This record gives sequence, C-alpha cells and structure tokens, in this order.
Amino acid sequence: MLYGIFSDVHANLEAFRAVLRFYEKNKVEHFICCGDLVGYGPQPRECVELVMALKDCRSVLGNHDAAVTGRIEMKWFNANALAAIEFARKNLSGAALAFLSALPEKLETPDFTVVHGSPKKPLTEYLLGEIQFVDSLKFWTVSPCFMGHTHMPAYFKHDAAGLPETDFLGPMLRVVSDGGRLMLNPGSVGQPRDGDPRSSCAVYDTENKVFEIFRVPYDIEKTTRLMSEFKMPVILGERLLLGF
Ligand code: ZN
Repeated sequence: MLYGIFSDVHANLEAFRAVLRFYEKNKVEHFICCGDLVGYGPQPRECVELVMALKDCRSVLGNHDAAVTGRIEMKWFNANALAAIEFARKNLSGAALAFLSALPEKLETPDFTVVHGSPKKPLTEYLLGEIQFVDSLKFWTVSPCFMGHTHMPAYFKHDAAGLPETDFLGPMLRVVSDGGRLMLNPGSVGQPRDGDPRSSCAVYDTENKVFEIFRVPYDIEKTTRLMSEFKMPVILGERLLLGF
C-alpha cells in the first residue's frame, strides 16, 4: 500500500493542491498528516476542508492547530505566528474548527505511529538530533513513527545493533527500513525551511518498506499575493520565496 505522508501544510492551499495532484498522478490514495494544517498561510479553512474531504487520511494535531482551537498557550509563538493564528481563528468554519479540536496528539496503529513534534512532547519538541531521538524511543512502540514540526525532511534510525543514525534528507531521498526503529519526517508542504522553496512531501510503500521524499513546485507568488492582500506579516511571505 502507498501512503502519502505530509506535514505542516500551514494554510498554503496552492502548495497543498500541488502535492495532492502529485499524489493523484502517482496513484497514492491513503494519507497520513503529521499536523499543522493551519497557521502562517492565507487559506486555513480551505486546507482543513481538503483534508476532511480525503477518503482515507489519518491526522494528528500540530501546535498551530492546537493554538487555534485553544488547546495550548500562546506563549509558545512569536508575534508573526500569533497574527496568523488569529487570522485562522476568524477564517475557519465551525466544522473545520470541530475537526481540528477532535485530532489526537499521538496516533498509534498496528502499522505505524504519528506525532507532530516528538513522541515525548508531541506539541512542543523539535526533534533535531540523535540524543533526542534515543531519548524518545521509550515513548512509542510501533515503527515507523512519522513526524513533522521542524519543516525539514529527515530520518532517525536505530538499527538492530542499537546504534542511532540520522540524516537530513538533502541529497539522500530514500530510506529503506531494515527492521530497526525509524522516525521519518516528510518536511513541510506549505513552509519548507531547508533552503528549497518547493513543497516537500513523502510516499511510504508499506510492502517494500521504502520512504521517499519528493519536492513539488507550486505557484509561490500566488500564495504571497494572497498574504499581502489579507495584510498578513510581510516576513511570512518572504520566507516562502527563500524556503526558510
Ligand atoms: Zn509547522
């Protein structure tokens, strides 16, 4: 089975549509969303409604989703992020808000685990290094564990000998599971931060246990035009053009 793994859409409808077109072209019909559908971007309602309309999509709550629905404190966000959270709150329909409110912080199935930040602190921890990865192992059981939050595609691996290994998926786009424990980050659909402004998403092939990152171009200017039309903070548009 092919799963489309995506994260951090952040209300960027243009980017999200491009990624869904890519999945459709590649016959991907099952999806896993690692959180943060809203925040930063200009079309939160449309993005949440697109996910609600997907036939098979397992989603978890992100920190921006949690802020919009009042589940975490605002002290975790800077002024620009807060402005976008306020914008989303006003923009979302009742059904979209109810959908976000019902999302779990951690999803554990017989086949995989899903969190936004880390299994230890799903809404706040940025999992960036091997020490954190090893520390997180006792907080989840079923591998692979899909996550997002850092907006950078990456993998963390604990092999049979118990040695940790990690890499941010620049030139290496493909990870094959060999029985060890894996944490996999598909990068961000709507606000990549690894210097490549194209959308980032992944496909996980359950049969061959292969996780692959793909970069999908989209009309970035269309998104930034809407952001200035809605008078959102200028820097939020500028960073999309830089991929940072
Ligand atoms: Zn995010």
